[in-house]
Amino acid sequence: MSITTRIDLLKNRRTKIVATIGPASADESTLSRLIHAGVNIFRLNMSHGSQQQHTEAFDNIRRVADTIGRPVGVLADLCGPKIRTGKFPPGGITLRAGDDVLVTTRNVPGSEGVIHSQYAALAADVKPGDRILLADGLFELAVQTVAAEDVHCRVIQGGQLTDNKGINLPGVDVSAPSMTEKDIEDARFARELGVDYIALSFVRRAADIEALRNLLGTDPAAPRIIAKIEKPEALFNAEEILAATDAIMIARGDLGVELPPEEVPVAQAELVRLARTQGKPVIVATQMLESMISNSRPTRAEVTDVAHAVNSGVDAIMLSGETAVGAFPVEAVDIMDRVARQTEAHQWREGVYGKLPGIDVRPLPVWNVIANATAHMSKDLMVHGVMVISRSGMSAATVSAARPAAPIVAITNEPYVLRRMALFWGVIPLLQDEAGRANPNELARRVARELNLAEQGEYVLLVRGFHDEADLNSPSITVITV
Ligand code: ATP
Ligand code: MG
Ligand code: MG
Repeated sequence: MSITTRIDLLKNRRTKIVATIGPASADESTLSRLIHAGVNIFRLNMSHGSQQQHTEAFDNIRRVADTIGRPVGVLADLCGPKIRTGKFPPGGITLRAGDDVLVTTRNVPGSEGVIHSQYAALAADVKPGDRILLADGLFELAVQTVAAEDVHCRVIQGGQLTDNKGINLPGVDVSAPSMTEKDIEDARFARELGVDYIALSFVRRAADIEALRNLLGTDPAAPRIIAKIEKPEALFNAEEILAATDAIMIARGDLGVELPPEEVPVAQAELVRLARTQGKPVIVATQMLESMISNSRPTRAEVTDVAHAVNSGVDAIMLSGETAVGAFPVEAVDIMDRVARQTEAHQWREGVYGKLPGIDVRPLPVWNVIANATAHMSKDLMVHGVMVISRSGMSAATVSAARPAAPIVAITNEPYVLRRMALFWGVIPLLQDEAGRANPNELARRVARELNLAEQGEYVLLVRGFHDEADLNSPSITVITV
């Protein structure tokens, strides 16, 4: 048997791309190139940059996306109680194994041998013998002695340390609350700005999500919540967290510090499986193309990591430093897009889409039954599109979760729902003023024709009628011949 790796690509990429904004990408011209390269969601990381910078980036994103005419979402990522290093002179400082280094909460600037941290309780939380990890676990210090505001350490694993890197204290029970004062302020700021998603860091249990939801309020246009899974407690409580949140992000940076590295792929596999059975979008994040921060080409291992995430059926793959501070932000998105498309073409050839997951508990919720039937029909009828008329984005998410064989055209008349749906696997969000008013069959037929989805005589499916309230919920699947 011979192997062909040249496979025809699908017209529409199913897996979505999230890109973090930073100094390398916040200007309009780079944003425009990033959208053309395939970004679906931009991430504003509240751990870096000022509110003014985030406002400018946000305005630029909306303006550029409007000009290009693509639905693009914005995600604001809250810092959470992450302990960080302060600032250093340009270029950072060098940590050499065996050297002494002082970590202090006194208000002194960072310099060779001195690391500033704003976390006031640092000296109280650690004791001699504890380990301190820096920059997502890249560098390691051993605590020697502790004074009032000074922690004296020895460098175990060194390297070049720059501004604002994470400090992890493995095994130490950090006394900070899960939403800090700054997070509360940033969440309000992001809601006023009008972002589509807010990501909550270091989620431990469902109550953390509920606290943020209370703060965001009940307005249907309020941002949706993404729970960042980066603590062992969150793995333990994964099911209740998934039930409470709108989506999850597997934040492998901090997760890989909290867990032994070899356990991270297991956690990722289990989280993807759980999220998909619960119909919640899942993003895989951190170091996907890390070497592209400074190189124009990725490593083979990075390409394989991206392909693996796509193969496992995640909704979205994310870039962090690659697009925020990297030298090749557009190239990184371009590579991600190409790897995702090639992998999806292979999945398609293998007949992966439209195949139902093993179902063991019946009765299933009616939402899932309709979505599964849609996926099944999409394959057996070889339909060219699945049209979903979605008021809140919920039906689009449900149909997407069953991973049908044809692209899902999710039609809404609300711009905020449109942008929200940019995150969902396989979904092409489409704004139509008359959605909800026009005859749905005619709307679906017209859209299929306008988008060139199907030729005359070919099939598309129309899914509609989902509702939160039981007596208004009358979902249906219609087969439409174009
Ligand atoms: P998180 O735990 O939220 O992922 P992080 O520090 O790892 O926080 P990323 O968004 O993953 O941040 O980005 C990776 C690196 O890129 C950061 O450590 C930082 O050095 C740099 N970076 C990201 N965004 C910015 C920004 N807006 N300004 C300056 N540097 C940034
Ligand atoms: Mg990170
Ligand atoms: Mg993190």
